[in-house]
Amino acid sequence: MSYTYDSQNIFAKILRGEIPNSTVAETDHSLAFKDINPGAPHHVLVIPKGAYVNFDHFSGAASDTEILDFYRLAGKITNDLGISPDGGLGYRVIGNSGEHGVQDVPHFHLHILGGHSMGRMLPK
Ligand code: 5GP
Repeated sequence: MSYTYDSQNIFAKILRGEIPNSTVAETDHSLAFKDINPGAPHHVLVIPKGAYVNFDHFSGAASDTEILDFYRLAGKITNDLGISPDGGLGYRVIGNSGEHGVQDVPHFHLHILGGHSMGRMLPK
């Protein structure tokens, strides 16, 4: 598979420090920050620092270390925010990829949303 990464995407600029962000947590390989246009009381974006376009790119090409770091951080944030079902009321994780997934920013990211009921994922 060949993926083309646009180094001018907004999250690449955040990672280079060219535009500000509200950081929630950071590790060697991943960054978590607040979404600029939150869709719920808690809305955090988790991104790898590596140049991966989407979920399948990251899952297939990232190192074990990067993948472990990313998912450990994403899971920890739900606890830090107090929204883990273990003590809290739960949350939703969303990963949009490509045109049909309606992905706006072409740098892999997960959305963590919580703080109120998210409703059904898709209308039945
Ligand atoms: P996508 O549609 O690609 O899954 O989601 C992209 C998300 O990035 C959107 O929820 C949008 O609000 C967020 N976003 C876009 N530009 C910025 C920005 O400059 N800073 C932050 N913190 N979030 C952004």
